[in-house]
Amino acid sequence: MTDAGDDRIVVDRLTKSFPQEGRRGERLDVLAGVSFSVRAGEFVTVIGPSGSGKSTVFNMLAGLESPDSGSIRFHGPGTGAHCAYMPQKDLLFPWRSVLDNTVLGLRVQGVPKAEARRRARELFPAFGLAGFEDARPEQLSGGMRQRAAMLRTVVQEREPLLLDEPFGALDSLTRTEMQSWLQDVWQRYRWTVLMITHDIREAVYLSDRVVVLSARPATVRHELRVDLPRPRDLSLITTPEFVALEEQLLEILHEESRRALAQQHPAAPRR
Ligand code: ADP
Ligand code: MG
Repeated sequence: MTDAGDDRIVVDRLTKSFPQEGRRGERLDVLAGVSFSVRAGEFVTVIGPSGSGKSTVFNMLAGLESPDSGSIRFHGPGTGAHCAYMPQKDLLFPWRSVLDNTVLGLRVQGVPKAEARRRARELFPAFGLAGFEDARPEQLSGGMRQRAAMLRTVVQEREPLLLDEPFGALDSLTRTEMQSWLQDVWQRYRWTVLMITHDIREAVYLSDRVVVLSARPATVRHELRVDLPRPRDLSLITTPEFVALEEQLLEILHEESRRALAQQHPAAPRR
């Protein structure tokens, strides 16, 4: 694969298998040559059946996991170590206040405490967390904890931004608001964003491009360009152009999810 000039991230033929718990010597093939690239300033979403290896790819991008073969290349400022990563599990420290949780990433970067707190505090209203600065994570709803974890990631103003199902635990109204908000900040800063979601509508609404992973062991099953005008508002969702893209993705994802299910329950009777 040759790198195009504007590529920010090039993911090249990643493979990975994991040892299987309780089955000595047997390995689970998770990635079977995953390749895709992300251009500078592009918003790319990754979808795929549950268990297909999406989070594994992100862990590799963040440098937490290494591939068995294949490579990841970053171009432009920074490297993988400079990604701002929001993992699928929110991981807030229970003994710290919400504010002190949200400044962690900045503190690791060496930002002085007072400045880190000021920058994080400014974002609390936009994340629907105003008034909860001094609360403990256990006092927040699941959705609020997820927004706090996202705030901690976004406040670092680093990119590429890696978001693993950032809105997974949110009710649909809050989710829609957060999607609009994310689109707004992305339009403003033009970060390179790579996001995992299981919500096809969310993928089409936010993305320039959608990468669909196959059932395990994963390859890139399809790439869909979303050439809808921006800024996008909610009325777009009911247009024929939007619906057509959604249906295209739905069909592919259903097919792959059926294959994934058949692997998990090979003896299940067909209906
Ligand atoms: P997804 O995010 O697409 O749902 P994951 O990347 O989390 O999928 O996981 C893909 C598969 O790899 C799953 O079957 C998962 O159990 C397995 N897996 C992920 N990480 C590990 C690990 N560190 N050790 C063993 N198995 C793992
Ligand atoms: Mg995952």
